[in-house]
Amino acid sequence: MKKKEKSSGKKIFAVVFVLLTVAGLCGVMAYDAIKSSNAQISSVAMGTVVSIKLNGYGSDKAAQQIVDRINDLDNRFLTCKTSDSDVGRINAGAGSTVNIDGFTAGILTKSNEICAAGDGAFDITLGSLTSLWDIGGENQRVPLHSEIEKALDFTGYKNLVINGNTAGVPTGFSLDLGAVGKGVACDEARTILLDTKVKNAIISVGGSVLLFGENEDGSPFRVGIRDPRGDSGEYMGILKLNSSCVSTSGDYEKYFTSADGSVYHHILNPETGYPVRRDLISVTVCSDSGLVSDALSTACFVLGYEKSLPLLEKYSAQAVFITTDKKVIVTDGIADSFELTNSDKYTLEQNDNA
Ligand code: ADP
Ligand code: MG
Repeated sequence: MKKKEKSSGKKIFAVVFVLLTVAGLCGVMAYDAIKSSNAQISSVAMGTVVSIKLNGYGSDKAAQQIVDRINDLDNRFLTCKTSDSDVGRINAGAGSTVNIDGFTAGILTKSNEICAAGDGAFDITLGSLTSLWDIGGENQRVPLHSEIEKALDFTGYKNLVINGNTAGVPTGFSLDLGAVGKGVACDEARTILLDTKVKNAIISVGGSVLLFGENEDGSPFRVGIRDPRGDSGEYMGILKLNSSCVSTSGDYEKYFTSADGSVYHHILNPETGYPVRRDLISVTVCSDSGLVSDALSTACFVLGYEKSLPLLEKYSAQAVFITTDKKVIVTDGIADSFELTNSDKYTLEQNDNA
């Protein structure tokens, strides 16, 4: 793995950038001027930056509803940082089952299906390991090998039992939905927007982005994929996409450098308990579902390019892989939608499956 500058700490920048705002945000929409409005706000929720751009009647109200919903989603259902949320209560009650909201049960069920489909490369029961490493947190450190071995004994998605509106994990286990929560937030934002007159929207929650509705002129949204070895504002390519969700996982998002100069990033290999050491530096996944795009970007990062293909196919998802040697591989379904903008640094590879 390439050496990086000293610790990044918490991720504060979105991983993918929306390059052009939706048409209505920058154009003067005389026709609909009286009824239309737009809103653009940034907020911090789920421990990351949430950026919201909406265009259409009721945008202000919808933007606030979305921020409130994302906070609610985290606090009531998904966070593992407190014992008040459903996930927090499952963790605190490890060894027994607890009552949870049907919404949380649905998220856990869908997530666990993806854990199984990816053969455990994506695993929502890594809480004992992720808290041990605490990458990006205040207590980040390289644990002893024996500590990692011990923590691994308390992981494994097959141990999560969901039964109607109850769920539980065995003693010592804990859930961490960090790899899926931001995608779920995008799905929730879309649910809110579908009930409004908002015409188009771009919402980014950390590394997950929701593209909603249609541009006035029917043109696709343009999403920049961050240069994983560039500065935080640099992108290396553009994806032109219609309404969908896009998530990126990479080794540069959260990491720290140990005293001996080794770099440890936040995506763990559930088999070894150590950060994934592969030929990839980032994976961007596009899907109709935010939950799926977020979960699969993490899963594909762990699996590597070849083993990711059947998983992507199963979920009708598309992806852009960036390898350590700066090759870019784009799956068939979005090959025509991708444009490499930094060809000095990166080379576009032919997809083997083409
Ligand atoms: P981000 O949180 O930056 O969006 P990811 O979606 O890839 O990035 O999620 C990474 C987070 O998920 C980690 O910070 C950790 O909490 C958790 N995690 C790490 N490795 C795995 C894994 N193999 N499967 C599931 N969750 C993981
Ligand atoms: Mg993810």
